[in-house]
Amino acid sequence: MHYNKYSNALMKRFGEKVYKIPINLPITCPNRDGSIGKGGCAFCGEIGAGFEAQESCHSVSKQLADNIAVIAPKYHARKFIAYFQNYTNTYMALDRFKAFTEEAAGFPDVIGISISTRPDCISEPYLAHLKQLSTAYGLAIEIELGLQTVNEASLLKLNRGHGVSEFLTAVKLVQAFGFTICTHLIGNIPWDTEGDLYEAARLINHLKIDAVKLHSLYILKESLLGQWYTDGEFSMIDADTYIQRVIHFLRILNPEITIQRLFGRAPESMTLFCNWGMSWRKLQNELDHRMTMLGVKQGDLYEE
Ligand code: SF4
Repeated sequence: MHYNKYSNALMKRFGEKVYKIPINLPITCPNRDGSIGKGGCAFCGEIGAGFEAQESCHSVSKQLADNIAVIAPKYHARKFIAYFQNYTNTYMALDRFKAFTEEAAGFPDVIGISISTRPDCISEPYLAHLKQLSTAYGLAIEIELGLQTVNEASLLKLNRGHGVSEFLTAVKLVQAFGFTICTHLIGNIPWDTEGDLYEAARLINHLKIDAVKLHSLYILKESLLGQWYTDGEFSMIDADTYIQRVIHFLRILNPEITIQRLFGRAPESMTLFCNWGMSWRKLQNELDHRMTMLGVKQGDLYEE
């Protein structure tokens, strides 16, 4: 095994296959409605990131039931994590947050809740509620925090509306509640150097983050990034360079950290650029093959 795969880590933790079920809520994010910023992050499209999710008009229970009906037989899974994926899931009134998460907590075979949010939009009352749910229902709680890059200039260019310091504060807060943290990074932001990605690996090691979702940047048609791309404002590194970069990133990373993803995924019809015109699985296979040929693995360059 070249790296610490999420599916294996779940199997080890829960003793059987566990699958994350996306839930799409009728909410927004503070980087869109003006409370932090307007227009959203440059790479984000109108529907956020949940391309596999159902429409937000459906209840949490219906989304779970419908998705489980498809996923359970396909992947032979019997236990599930309710994954609040789209937009900023802690940017809503606390009462609403409680209602949505309670509904998921009480759903049959749900053994965990994962909440995706911005690092500058998470506070104690929301975490305290999750703690209560965790105790009442015996749930595992994970918070997904979008960092994307440690390069402040890139964060500014992408209109993220937060810097690295907000991420550090959020990590400390979440860890005080004993929840696991998954960090989102993008491995090929055009304004980043490869060193920025390796620095992100060192930061994640240092903070004892539990999991990483690394995305290859895709460019949505309906996004500011798409406009810049069409205008020729930047170019993308090639697939080979990305794979080399990801391998080195993995080698620096603490081998205990779980890898939830290494390539972005978006529908072809919605993108101007996605994974160099290849499937993420093909790229993934190439990465695995390359790591075998090189005889390297996650953490072999890790320094405590
Ligand atoms: S990526 Fe997240 S924070 Fe940025 S605009 Fe989209 S939903 Fe908001």
